[in-house]
Amino acid sequence: MKAMMLTGIRQIEMKDIPEPQVVNPNDVKIKMSVMGICGSDIHYYTQGQIGSQIVQYPFTVGHEGAGVVVETGSSVKTVKPGDHIAIEPAMPCRECDQCLSGRPHTCRNLRFLGCPGQAEGCLMEYIVMPEKSCFLLTGNLTTDHGSISEPFAIGVYAVKKSTATKGLNIGIFGFGPIGMSVMLASKAIGINNIFVTDKIDERLLIAQKEGASATGNPLKENIIDKIRQFQPAGLDIAFECCGKQEAFDEAIELLKPGGKLVVVGIPEFDRWSMNVEVTRRREISLQFIRRQVDCVEQALELMGNGSVNTDNMVTHRFPFAKAREAFDLVAAYKDGVMKAMIDFM
Ligand SMILES: [Zn+2]
Ligand SMILES: [Zn+2]
Repeated sequence: MKAMMLTGIRQIEMKDIPEPQVVNPNDVKIKMSVMGICGSDIHYYTQGQIGSQIVQYPFTVGHEGAGVVVETGSSVKTVKPGDHIAIEPAMPCRECDQCLSGRPHTCRNLRFLGCPGQAEGCLMEYIVMPEKSCFLLTGNLTTDHGSISEPFAIGVYAVKKSTATKGLNIGIFGFGPIGMSVMLASKAIGINNIFVTDKIDERLLIAQKEGASATGNPLKENIIDKIRQFQPAGLDIAFECCGKQEAFDEAIELLKPGGKLVVVGIPEFDRWSMNVEVTRRREISLQFIRRQVDCVEQALELMGNGSVNTDNMVTHRFPFAKAREAFDLVAAYKDGVMKAMIDFM
């Protein structure tokens, strides 16, 4: 089968590798249909690492996938050949202290699709996953929804962890697919005062279409003044969704006393810094987000029953053989790209 593998910094090559096989009774072999490119895939493509997770070449990235079941192990009951499924990329051990305490997303022995040192990714024609990672796509749900359920579940989880409730004022700093997921998940629980910033105007246009109360581009205007005009008392909750120090600082500056900063973005640097005076006097809470836990089903449900429409998220599509063009486009933030999808025929 064919796999699109990273072979160096900004290098992707098509390679012939053996098809993975069903070995364990709970294994499911999947023919990939579609894969969304994630910001983290781009970090591995352009930097060869995220923090201590370093790519050993050749390596396949990709973890936002959906496909069709082609074969199942002897104990698999929830899916069968021919089923369309969403793929949950996390494969926790289900035995360690974290797994046993309901935190499989911080499993000590986690294997995550397309994460260096853990598991190859899904930018290949076939993959094998445990049954628990397979979520049946029913009703109106398409394989695009299946793929989007991965980033969208992170938005659902971030909003849940933020303890945001109906009627609060929130800010979303960075409006890529994760920022957009946070917005859609917030709207789904009745939050309508949503302020959005991003450096790309096309993304702000999408935020406006989705009903943002106000948007601002920090390259063109003072977003602190702008958001204060609309919300003089400050924000209840700010979501940092781009991994940038400026966004982190702006978010804290705009929070009201007792406000909460939720950090979802993945920075390319090693340390955040923050204003001691502001965070201390305003008694700001800080919540970091590590991917998500138990939110895939809810994400699929929200999309399936029409509570959330993710159609504006996908802005570009590329065939499998042109994955490199797709990665270059996303890495350069070109052409107003939000989410680029790879189609496997
Ligand atoms: Zn992702
Ligand atoms: Zn574990």
